[in-house]
Amino acid sequence: MKLWLFGIYGIVGATAIAGERAIKRGLTDTTGLVSELPVFKGLDKYSPLDFEDFGGHDIRALDKNLYEELFSHWEDNQHFDYRILKQLKEDLEDIRAKKGTALNCGEGVLQELKPIEALENEGLTLEEIVSKIEKDILEFADDETVAVNVASTEPVIPFDEEIHGSLDGFERAIKENRKDIISASMIYAYVSLKNRIPFANFTPSVSSSLPALKELAERNNVPHAGNDGKTGETLVKTTLAPMFAYRNLKVLGWMGYNILGDLDGKVLSHEQNKRSKVESKDKVIGKILGYYPYTITEINYFPSLQDNKTAFDFIHYQGFLGAKMKFYFIWDAIDAIVASPLVLDIARFLNFAKKKGIKGVVKELSFFFKSPMDTDIYNTHKQFSDLKEWYEVLK
Ligand code: NAD
Repeated sequence: MKLWLFGIYGIVGATAIAGERAIKRGLTDTTGLVSELPVFKGLDKYSPLDFEDFGGHDIRALDKNLYEELFSHWEDNQHFDYRILKQLKEDLEDIRAKKGTALNCGEGVLQELKPIEALENEGLTLEEIVSKIEKDILEFADDETVAVNVASTEPVIPFDEEIHGSLDGFERAIKENRKDIISASMIYAYVSLKNRIPFANFTPSVSSSLPALKELAERNNVPHAGNDGKTGETLVKTTLAPMFAYRNLKVLGWMGYNILGDLDGKVLSHEQNKRSKVESKDKVIGKILGYYPYTITEINYFPSLQDNKTAFDFIHYQGFLGAKMKFYFIWDAIDAIVASPLVLDIARFLNFAKKKGIKGVVKELSFFFKSPMDTDIYNTHKQFSDLKEWYEVLK
């Protein structure tokens, strides 16, 4: 199979590709890949862990190749063994990003990722931008291609029923050049689903969760999944919160304070871009407990940490006889290392889903996301057993 990444030059995208190539060359093992667990034995019959090719869009550094971009992330983060990286040079230097769009990506992207090289800067209309993105993907894709959005987080775009609520409205807005209300992540999802390419949104941006694009996926018999990879603090939260529920302990308050550096941290240091992420992280506790305790969810930019994200969580809870107690945890992880294998997992499961004739939102892939679409199941244990069962039945 082949993989197309929107935001291919980011640390998550570039590290995912490097990881796959490193496994192929026998430079590392498959630790961290859910799809390689024994319970998913046989998946390689449909989606082998052996990608034929990678491609993608980005909006910066277009004169560079993927190896150069990954090397620059590596210089900042040294997030894996240099001996592995240097053996991947040949594999990665032929991969080059195509020019994408930064429509409605907010100040965080426009300011922090300067200089931006985007199609709209060439004076193209919305329809022309869509056609150009489509042409790039079609030149690359075959029947077994999956696309994943790993671009920077966009601000929350106000929902407009007339435009976002139906496929007709959405396509009309493209023709009418409504650049004010259609964002890059929507265009990427639209082009993928229109061409029957399974699509995943690894970011909190709205993307394929728009009703118009869900309609397109159903109509074209193509599977999709999202939103926002569940990789760190939220993974721990949604694994731990059920414990309080199972023991009938009452959570009174939950505070999560996240600090991170790197490009992602810089973009999220802008209020507009941050809001999508905070919303995605905040609501999970209430969904699991069935009531909404007091919560504080904060994300702040901390430059020297680079890609090493740290989260401090404080939980205040009540037990028998009204006694109040406290629980604290600290999660410390290299963001790209926890995220990038999931990009490969999701792509493999989506390719499998397409081959099995699944269309629309694949709720069983909720296990991988902070804000899974069309489900109220946020409990990691339940999500994992649903994924196993789904695979077992379909395989
Ligand atoms: P990053 O800043 O390193 O990479 C983002 C890449 O997207 C950059 O190369 C940037 O130039 C590109 N980009 C930005 N806007 C674009 C657009 N409109 N079109 C095409 N390319 C665009 O960030 P990252 O750490 O790789 O994270 C990628 C995304 O994944 C972010 O949205 C992040 O919030 C999300 N995410 C990451 C994690 C994690 O790292 N653990 C978990 C969940 C979600």
